[in-house]
Amino acid sequence: MKKDFLYEGKAKILYQTEQPDRVVAYFKDDATGFDGTKRGKIVDKGVVNASVSAALFKTLEGHGIATHFIERISDRELLFEKLDIILVEVIVRNVAAGSICKRLGLERGQKFEPPLVEFFYKNDELHDPLIRDDHVLLLGLATKNEIEHLKKQALKVNHVLCEVFDKVGITLVDFKLEFGRTKDGTVLLGDEICPDTCRLWDKESGKVLDKDRFRFDMGEVESAYQEVLQRIGVLG
Ligand code: UDP
Repeated sequence: MKKDFLYEGKAKILYQTEQPDRVVAYFKDDATGFDGTKRGKIVDKGVVNASVSAALFKTLEGHGIATHFIERISDRELLFEKLDIILVEVIVRNVAAGSICKRLGLERGQKFEPPLVEFFYKNDELHDPLIRDDHVLLLGLATKNEIEHLKKQALKVNHVLCEVFDKVGITLVDFKLEFGRTKDGTVLLGDEICPDTCRLWDKESGKVLDKDRFRFDMGEVESAYQEVLQRIGVLG
């Protein structure tokens, strides 16, 4: 397949294919944390994240959630529909962890029922600030209808993924989603869904099985990523 370099991000490289509406994402082992201030590598992270993302996108499609995923073309490469990314990071939280604990003084582990949906402005220079619907409109990032769609889809994704992870003994604590528009304006779920973008805790032991192991130098980083892949792999 002919591929032309488009863009290199923190975790992936995007290539244009011969078809104008299709791109290939190459998943790297590079890892960043704390707003890009911590950098490193997690061996074979790219393989795990490509596999886990592919499996989860397929499952979501099976539940009627439209995503940009087309197919896995190698161990580290996924073929995606090309999207114009909406500059809003949609975070869904089932349990308190990470930034919300600091921001609101909550205890790590507190359950959220119903789950909480938050928007962050995807802007490195501004360090991705938390924003409200009105800010999304003010900044022209999405329309009113799109905002409602993002929230609805995010909660649907959460419902499906909670079940998926629950079956393999993992609590889905929180995660980040990104959406984008196709050429005709259809909004699809984009980016990736993997241990880089989710917080995943073992249900029994509470063991952290996600990027927090890298962020906080907890050790056993690679094996935690492999563990998630292995558990998701047994989904069938
Ligand atoms: N997240 C992400 N990319 C970001 C920010 C957050 O994938 O740029 C994920 C993160 O891994 C976690 C969830 O979104 O699963 C919520 O992150 P939080 O707001 O708590 O920020 P953090 O504490 O990770 O800085």
